[in-house]
Amino acid sequence: MAAGAGEILQLIRTGRATTRIQVLEVTGLSRVTVAQRIDALVSAGIIRAAGDAGATGGRRSERFVFDPSDSLVLAAALELDGGEVAIVDPHGALLARAPLAVDLTAGPAAVVPHLLDAFDALLADADLKPGAVGGVALSVPGPVDPRDHRLSDPPVMPGWGAWPVVEAVRERFDVPVHLENDADAMAYGEFTELDAAPDRPQPFVLVKVSRFLGAGLVVDGRTFRGADGGAGDIGHIDVGGDAVCRCGRRGCLAAEAGGAALLRRLQEAGSDVGSLAELLALAERGDPLVTAELNRAAELIGRVLAVVVGVLNPADLVVAGELAVPTMIAGIRAGVYAGAQPRATARLRIRSAVLGSDAVLIGLARVAVDDRFSADAVDARLG
Ligand SMILES: [Zn+2]
Repeated sequence: MAAGAGEILQLIRTGRATTRIQVLEVTGLSRVTVAQRIDALVSAGIIRAAGDAGATGGRRSERFVFDPSDSLVLAAALELDGGEVAIVDPHGALLARAPLAVDLTAGPAAVVPHLLDAFDALLADADLKPGAVGGVALSVPGPVDPRDHRLSDPPVMPGWGAWPVVEAVRERFDVPVHLENDADAMAYGEFTELDAAPDRPQPFVLVKVSRFLGAGLVVDGRTFRGADGGAGDIGHIDVGGDAVCRCGRRGCLAAEAGGAALLRRLQEAGSDVGSLAELLALAERGDPLVTAELNRAAELIGRVLAVVVGVLNPADLVVAGELAVPTMIAGIRAGVYAGAQPRATARLRIRSAVLGSDAVLIGLARVAVDDRFSADAVDARLG
């Protein structure tokens, strides 16, 4: 194994080899080369010595940890009518966060300057200089084109298609800027939370069930975006209903089974429920109308996910978002099992998300950190 400093960093980050002798054993490099590359990583402020690893003592059993300087991530999770900004450290810990009052339908020219001011305020409150920031990552409720990193005809965000969000952010913060679909960011956050995720890169699917619906896919350890960023956009798959969707078409899954659709259907049936929080409170009390609607939605979502499962044969299907309650997960499981081949579900784990409402921000930070400290990026930086 010919390992540059970047590869050695991956061994240290994942804990597969954290001392000089372990790196030497895994890579087969000479002692001198290992020492040079580790010294380069230390000098660059990417790793640091963290005490002795074993009883043998001496320099070769010194343990190294990933602890980069100037690598905080500014993350923003943008929702259609609001959001959150945060400062995240390179290990994924949220150092500071604040709600963001935005309305994405007002268009990017109104929203982006407000977002940048919110980042500045967050840094000032935390007494941090912009120089401590190593990356910025934003999530949006729409597809992002992987070729130009711009929104790709977002069905619910008029005016954002092809608008240069990344370039506008870079004018304020001269660091790498990432624009991600929100379900993709959530999926990456939950995927990297799995034990030894890099060692078992089986396909991973996350479905976000809140007011709207979306799915994020991780394949071979990376976000799978598709040709134009539309992969996982299950909310606009036609399930044959009558309701008009926000995208303008009829019969979309989101218009039949998303949270906004549930509220509308309940109100049409005479309920005075006004928010998803009220809907969930009624569900908890066993309200028969709400329970029936949740079950119907879950079954529809499960039927669509059965197709996803049949195509991708994932190892994990994680249900996230405000409506990822036990009734929803049980209904999705029933829909998937009813619609997919037994072979495709035999070893499939269907479960709720573990990062909760932090999944997007943590996922965004990991996207930025994994990109900045990939083996290739580190080798390029160290020349
Ligand atoms: Zn639609």
